[in-house]
Amino acid sequence: MNFNLFPLIEKIKNPELRHIAEKVARNIPVNRDDARRLLSTPDILELGIIAHSLRTRLHGDTVCYGVNMNLNYTNICELRCPLCAFSCDPGDSEAYVLSLENIEKRVKKAVADGVDEVHIVGGLHPQLGLNYYEKMLKRIRGVKDDIYIVAFTAVEYDHFARISGLPLEEVFQRLIAAGVNALPGGGAEIFAPQVRATIAPKKISGQRWLDIMRTAHDLGLKTNATLLYNHLESIEDIVDHLFQLRDLQAKTGGFKTFVPLPFHEENSDIKAQRKSTTGFDDIRLYAASRIILHNIPHIKALWMYVGEKMAQVLLSFGVDDISGTYQNEKIVHAAGARTADFGSEAHLKRLIANAGFTARRTNAGYE
Ligand code: SF4
Repeated sequence: MNFNLFPLIEKIKNPELRHIAEKVARNIPVNRDDARRLLSTPDILELGIIAHSLRTRLHGDTVCYGVNMNLNYTNICELRCPLCAFSCDPGDSEAYVLSLENIEKRVKKAVADGVDEVHIVGGLHPQLGLNYYEKMLKRIRGVKDDIYIVAFTAVEYDHFARISGLPLEEVFQRLIAAGVNALPGGGAEIFAPQVRATIAPKKISGQRWLDIMRTAHDLGLKTNATLLYNHLESIEDIVDHLFQLRDLQAKTGGFKTFVPLPFHEENSDIKAQRKSTTGFDDIRLYAASRIILHNIPHIKALWMYVGEKMAQVLLSFGVDDISGTYQNEKIVHAAGARTADFGSEAHLKRLIANAGFTARRTNAGYE
């Protein structure tokens, strides 16, 4: 696929998409009206021409993947968001907290298997103090000095600041000193207050999530950004979410990757619009995101959320990162994801090559 969009514009017959393609070819950011059209068009192949040319302009035919593990240190959470199938109350039969010894053992085993990155996310535990998290990070860093640590969502950092009574900046500084390299993008869900009030009423607001990300960016941390879709949101809510991310990125440049997450309703308290997304929903959202978020370098499809086959297809619709091996993923599998909780490196490389792309192993910092 040619990354120069101009010669391809004549292939686009839909006049609205053609108008958007002409803007994109001239590096003009799309506006909110354009975004609404992108997110509702039935012409996904023409949408794909625009998204793929942009993706190719940025990344050629390269697709990134990582060899990483998940560490969900506790499922005890004081928020118990209705959208969440993972969390428990203290005392529930399935409630757990991983000890520091257990965490170290898991990381040692994963490192012996070739893992060079760990993603740490957990519930908001009412009793664990900041020193648990500092010790956890130091132990992991002690196993492998250059392991890449992507740790804690904005929601967890807000919790750490509350339980420790420390300013947010100081919490970040302490956890950076203990080993954090970057932040995942979780907790963004959808910023629209009326939807958030239903799916995650006790979670920090969208504005607070953005403020915490801005603080992380100001301290030099790169972060992901996410969007949870296919629950109760409207197209307008998605447009607004994407534009708020784009506006913050214009100020900080700290988002390296945007990760759309299709909602899985199993075991949650939310009855979504549909049990699962359709192929059109996924393709349209990923491709439109590539076009709307012109200033965020990478668009990632988590194969364990969208499925391996859809992840392969999305590589031709704006996606340049298929995510990692993710040993031991718990959160989306608690919500009914049918994918394996571990994809071997060889398997991910085969998926990428089979879709006609060149696989490149990286960590979440794209190093
Ligand atoms: S989504 Fe996160 S904050 Fe909400 S209940 Fe689950 S673990 Fe807790």
